Order: sequence, then structure tokens, then C-alpha cells
Amino acid sequence: MRYLLKTKPQQELLKRSTFKHKFFKQDFFTVVEYMASMKKIIPLLCFVLFLFSCKKQSTDPESLPNSYSDQALGKSANDLLSDAKYTTLNIQIQYMPGYAPNPTAISNFTAYINSLCNKPGGVNVTQQQIAANGDTLTVDKVAVIEAQNRTAYTAGNIIAIYVLVTDGYDTSATTLGFAYRNTSICLFGKNIFDHSGGFLEVTRISLETSILEHEFGHILGLVNLGTPMVVPHQDTAHGNHCNNPDCLMYYAIDTHDALPGLANRIPVLDSNCIKDLRGNGGK
Ligand SMILES: [Zn+2]
Ligand SMILES: [Zn+2]
Repeated sequence: MRYLLKTKPQQELLKRSTFKHKFFKQDFFTVVEYMASMKKIIPLLCFVLFLFSCKKQSTDPESLPNSYSDQALGKSANDLLSDAKYTTLNIQIQYMPGYAPNPTAISNFTAYINSLCNKPGGVNVTQQQIAANGDTLTVDKVAVIEAQNRTAYTAGNIIAIYVLVTDGYDTSATTLGFAYRNTSICLFGKNIFDHSGGFLEVTRISLETSILEHEFGHILGLVNLGTPMVVPHQDTAHGNHCNNPDCLMYYAIDTHDALPGLANRIPVLDSNCIKDLRGNGGK
């Protein structure tokens, strides 16, 4: 789980003009004075408007072309859990060369989604390889890669989720993945590959499935991140995570901390997390 913090320019407040008061005075000279000062002020106003319009046109490299997908993490929880607005879920997975997710991990992931979300129109997965990057990534860099490559967006009764699998590490070397916008997940493919599938290591299928399902849990608003808690169970010391060490939404699942305990087990949601999802439109 990671928050994408945007630096948006603060809106400038327009100072109240005193001209209005002058205009209402029934004094001819004041009106003339008003007209004269307006002559001076109009070009200035036009210039300010021009500057503002320029600013609007310059695009933020992190922002997505679809405003629905450009919201904070947790905002789409109800839209994904219930079928009130969206009946179909499309998942677009884009991976860098060498880091295609395991097909069994993908089928585990879709079965997990089908067990939680009311999507009678189906859950569809598409995958594409994108250009290698090799960089150590911050959440801002991940957001830019998404903006440059993502093509699946929410429209009509179809809601879309994006999963990026990178060929590098996060700046925090133990982070295996994070969710960072309302419909966006990143998996650090190289980090997952480097720490699974070897002798005495967790299997790649188990690790990929666990990270995908944990991050999607954040997208579903867990814990206390857009989906209200039925029973208090948030581990506030670790952000929006569950206080049950056996639960999929335990904080350690995002990082290497989970590796010793995972073995070949794929953690599941505990009863408190399931109750929250059901309370917010889930199955
Ligand atoms: Zn997490
Ligand atoms: Zn839980």
C-alpha cells in the first residue's frame, strides 16, 4: 500500500475589487474613472487568463487520461464489490520482459476476485509485455509508467484495474508490491523472482498470488481504507492493515517480512476482513 501524493498548485484567490462599489455611486466622474481603470485592467486580466489556460494545458506525467482511474486508493471499493454501477471487471496486466506472471497465480487471483466481488458480467484478464525499464522505482515513477502504457479504463458498466509488473526493485528493497491509486497495483517482478522458486524458498505461484491478492485487498478498501470496519481490527501502527498475523491483509505481506511464514501457503482473508467487504456490497 502506498499513497500517491500529488503536488497540485494551490488555487489562487481572487481579491475583491473595489470597482463594484464605485460603479454604484451615482457620480459621473466616478463612472468615467471606473471605465478608465477597467481599460487598464482588462489587458491584465486577459494576460492572467492566458497564463491559467497555459497551466491547464501542461499535463502532469502521472495523471491518467481517465479521471475515474485518477482517484485515491480505496475510492473504488464499493464499485468493485457491488454490481450497482459496474457489472464487469477488466484487469489489464502489463509486465516488463522476463517477468510475466505465472498463469496459475493469475487464475488464483481471478478466483479470489470472483469469490468477493459481484461481477455477473465476468472478470476478464488481458496481458501485454511493455518495454524494459530496469530502474529502481518510486511510487511517482511507477505512476508515470502506468500513464504511458495503460489502455484499459473504466467506461459504461465496465470497471478496469491495472497491474504493472516491473523488472526492478522499489526504492525500499524489501517491498514486493503496492497499491497506489483506486484501480492501480504494482508488483516488483524482479524482487518477487529473486525471492521465490529457489531451494527452501516460497514458490513463485504462492508469492505472486499472495502479493496480487493483498494489494487488491487494499483496492477493495481494506483495512479502513474506503470500506468501513464492522468490528475494529486495524493495525494502526502499520497503516491500513489487519491486526491478525494469519490474515492476508497483515502488514508483512507487502514485504520480505512475509517470506519466512509463507512457505507454500497462500494466506486468506480472516472473518473481520470478509465482514467489512460484505458490509460494503461484497459477496
Ligand atoms: Zn499492504
Ligand atoms: Zn483481516
